[in-house]
Parts: sequence; structure tokens; C-alpha cells
Amino acid sequence: MHRSLMSIARRALTAACVLAIACARRTEIAADLVVTRAAVWTGDSAKPTASALAIIGERIVDVGSDDAIARWRGPSTTVIDAEGRRVLPGFNDAHVHFVDGGVQLDSVDLKDAASPEEFARRIAQRARTQPGKWMLGGEWDDQQWTPPQLPTSALIDDATNGTPVFVSRYDGHMALANSAALGRAGITERTPDPPGGVIVRDAGGYPTGILKDAAMELVTRVIPSQTADERLRAVKRAMEYAESLGVTSVQDMNPSYDDVSVYADLANRGELTVRIYAAPMETGFYDQAKIGIHRSFGSSWLRLGAVKGYADGSLGSTTAYFFQPYTDAPDTRGFLSQEMQPVEHMRTRLMAADAAGLQLCMHAIGDAGISQTLDLFADVIRANGDRDRRLRIEHAQHIAPKDFDRFAALKVIASVQPYHAIDDGRWAERRIGPERIKTTYAFRTLADKGVRLAFGTDWPVAPLNPMLTLYAATTRATLDGKNPNGWVPEQKIAIADALAAATRGSAFAEFQERDKGTLARGQLADLVILTDDVLTIPAPQIKDVRVLTTIVGGKVVYQRRP
Ligand SMILES: [Zn+2]
Repeated sequence: MHRSLMSIARRALTAACVLAIACARRTEIAADLVVTRAAVWTGDSAKPTASALAIIGERIVDVGSDDAIARWRGPSTTVIDAEGRRVLPGFNDAHVHFVDGGVQLDSVDLKDAASPEEFARRIAQRARTQPGKWMLGGEWDDQQWTPPQLPTSALIDDATNGTPVFVSRYDGHMALANSAALGRAGITERTPDPPGGVIVRDAGGYPTGILKDAAMELVTRVIPSQTADERLRAVKRAMEYAESLGVTSVQDMNPSYDDVSVYADLANRGELTVRIYAAPMETGFYDQAKIGIHRSFGSSWLRLGAVKGYADGSLGSTTAYFFQPYTDAPDTRGFLSQEMQPVEHMRTRLMAADAAGLQLCMHAIGDAGISQTLDLFADVIRANGDRDRRLRIEHAQHIAPKDFDRFAALKVIASVQPYHAIDDGRWAERRIGPERIKTTYAFRTLADKGVRLAFGTDWPVAPLNPMLTLYAATTRATLDGKNPNGWVPEQKIAIADALAAATRGSAFAEFQERDKGTLARGQLADLVILTDDVLTIPAPQIKDVRVLTTIVGGKVVYQRRP
């Protein structure tokens, strides 16, 4: 109730100001910033294209032709000449893990280390910069080594000495510990394999350093948790990186409260340069509900009021929940998450969270996981009555054909990550067979059914770069190069639809389409200038497009060096 009154008042004020400024124009008010000679794609159906726009403070005051906008120029106006380049609304990533991403940026990068020697060299180099401090991250891929072979602690022990190293394979299902890390975890030749995990051993029975699945916890539990300073550093790194990619808003899924408090500190100091909508775990929904926080509560920089829950697991780990068994693992069809067992507990929490006005975002990947989530959403709507609640399914990867219409009828938003399609597309058919892949990452079918799409990346699980998202959605060309014309090509979508899902669509998914996601009078001045025109170049080239300039709230936060 209060929110809607406040937002009506605020919107009326904004409109009044914009009008007053527009009317007073002929006297003395000039824009702070004008962008001219641009190929502007506004995302606004009332005025889809323009060549210039004017900004005062953090908002756009006018969009139009160069001539029309010229009148906003005064002696103190900064003018950016876009030289005919493409200008778009800033990208809004609807699903990230922002602090994890920032931490990853600060870790050793092993993903493209093409040999064991290169792997060891990067770790050695890194160890020199942080002696004695835990080295994490990594994302190594032994499959690109010839021949493929698992790394060992012996490979890096000499160079790392007393610095504990625990670097993960890119899929997160195994990691390499050096001797210092094994020592701190107390792992010896006498340590038994824990249930659900393996300590890989050499011919003499000694641990090689490779730990699989549950065995990884033997090390992770002795790694000290992040300090507030480390967290702050991670957020700043993540913001800088987002700016360089033209990502001006992020929706952070299941941040810890410590993460949120770092955002709040930065917001209070006026130091956020990326807008954040935070959705902590649904199990703690009452923490927000009891103090009256509800959907999209906060400022344009930091909002709360959503909760994120899990219905099931993932395709890669065969834990996503399906109606039928996995094709390559016929003994399982995955399972519901712990929070869904029993499902009544989840229903009770979701109903209470919804009644408190919180927005519900549910991770669901397998067809049965998605179906169960739709059942729960239907129950919530029946219990609490119809209203504009913008229920979301995160990932929505493998939808049963019978559920598309229900997805649309319940007005559920599909918060999807196209990059996963070109990544998983390499092996998904082996896992779930030729029939189920037809409705896998089914962006075209969802759009045709009238389901609203919001694009994101799941960073750091996938890259944060929105160009890769656009590339993936428009080409569906898998990363292994084996499907140049698209994997399940009938699910490709047009570039304009992909752009809309990555800007206006994600803004809608966080109740912010009246403030961002389009370039129109009164909107927040969040925009990007690109090196090449994603709307006209061949789709395979989209992945190489770069951001030249990122503007957030009327301020240039990133400028690419020539
Ligand atoms: Zn995620």
C-alpha cells in the first residue's frame, strides 16, 4: 500500500519535473549531458529509434533527432558524439551471484591453461603475490590437455610452498589441493573417503590432491570465511567489471545478509555504480516480511523485497528433477531440493511470503521441478487472490510441453540464461534424449506463448558479458562449434527480442520498467555505446562486439581505451 502511494507520488513528481524542465527550456535550463549522432535503439515502442538524447541529473529529459536535442545544449553541457554508433539501454542481468563473481575475478584464472605446465606456471605466479593466503577459484579444464590428465599436488607443491591452494575444476565437481591445503584439512593416506566423495590416491595409497564431490568439503570447511573487507573488495571488482561490459543493473540471487550489508554501505556512501536488486533465500523470508519490506523496496540503486528458492538441482549434476529418468543415468530422475521436502513446507512459506508482498523467484530446471513450481504458484494465487505479483521461475530450462500454456496463464516470468544453452547444448541430448531437448531452453516457444522473458547469465557460472547472451539467444551455436546453424534452431530468437529481454524484460522482472530498460523521457539515464551495431551485423559476430562507453544515472562510469 505505502509503496504504491509513494511510487505514485514519486512518479508524479518526476513527471512534473520533466514537464517543468521541458516547459522552462526556452529560458535557461540546459542538459548536463547530451549524446548526439547516435543510432539509438530505445526499446520504447512509442519512439523506437532516435539519434540523440539529453540528460539532466540521473534521468533522461528528451529523446529525438540531433536537431531536436540540440536545443538542450548549453555552455556547461557535456556532449558525447557517438559517431553513428549503436546506443542501447544499459543491460540488466536478471540472475547473478555478484559477490561470488567478484571473488572469482580476484582468483587465479586457469580456465584456458592449455597444458599442465601452463597450469603450474599460473599458480606459481599467483602464489608469489599472496604468500600464505588461500588461493581459490581456478576453473581448470583437464580435457583440453593432451592427453587429458588430472593435475596433482606434486605439480604445484614446490612453487607454492606454504601457500594453501584449492582450485576447482570448472564444473565444480572436483578440486586440486596442494600439500599445504591437505595438511590444514588433516587429509592423509589414512583418511577414509567420505560418503558421496572420493579422495583420489596414487599407487602407494597417498592422496594425489584431487578431491571429488563430498570430499571437497574436507578442505572447504577449514577455509576461513570472507572478511567484510574482502567482501567489499569483491563487490567493487564486480561493479568495475560489470561497467566494462555495459551491465548497469544486476539482480543478485541468494546473497548472504553480509553481502546485502556491503551493498547497503556502498549505497549509503553513494558509491554503487551498478543498480542492485537483492533476493535472499526464501527460507529467511520472515526477516524481510516482519519489517515491512516488500517487492522492489528501496532506492534506484539498491532494492530488496524478493526471495529466491530452489525447487531442484542442475542438469550437469543429474539432480534437476524430471518426470522420466535421465537417458544416460536411467537409475535416477533427479530430485526435489531439500527445501521442497516435504512440499507443504515450501507452500506454506511461499504463501506467507507472497501475502507479505514479497516477490517469489524459484529456481526450477527439470520438467517435473518446473511443473511442481507452477503448482505451487497456482496455489499461492488461489490463496492470496489476483494481483500484479510477477512470479518468476529462474532457469526454466526443460519445460514439459503440457506446461507452456500454464506458464503463460499464471503470468510467470521466465528468467533464463541463454549462454547455458550453448554450453549445455554440447552434451544435453546425451543426458535427456532427443525428445526432451525440443523444449529445452525453449525461448522461442515461451515468447510465442506470451511468456515474458528476462535474460541473465547466472554469473560466475556463465560469463557476465551480455554480448554472449545475445549471441547465444540468436545463434544457439554450441561452444564446441558443432552446431553453427543452431542447436534446436527453431528456438532461436531475433536480436530485437533478445535485446528487449536483456533490458526491458529484466526491468519488468524487478518491477522497474517505469524507471529503466528503455530510453525515454523520465527514465533513468543508464545506457551504453557499442563498437558495432548488434542489430545489423551477422549474428555470429555479436560475440565480438565491445562496449565503448557505459553511462549509469547520467554519469560515465566506463570508457574503453582506444
Ligand atoms: Zn544461480
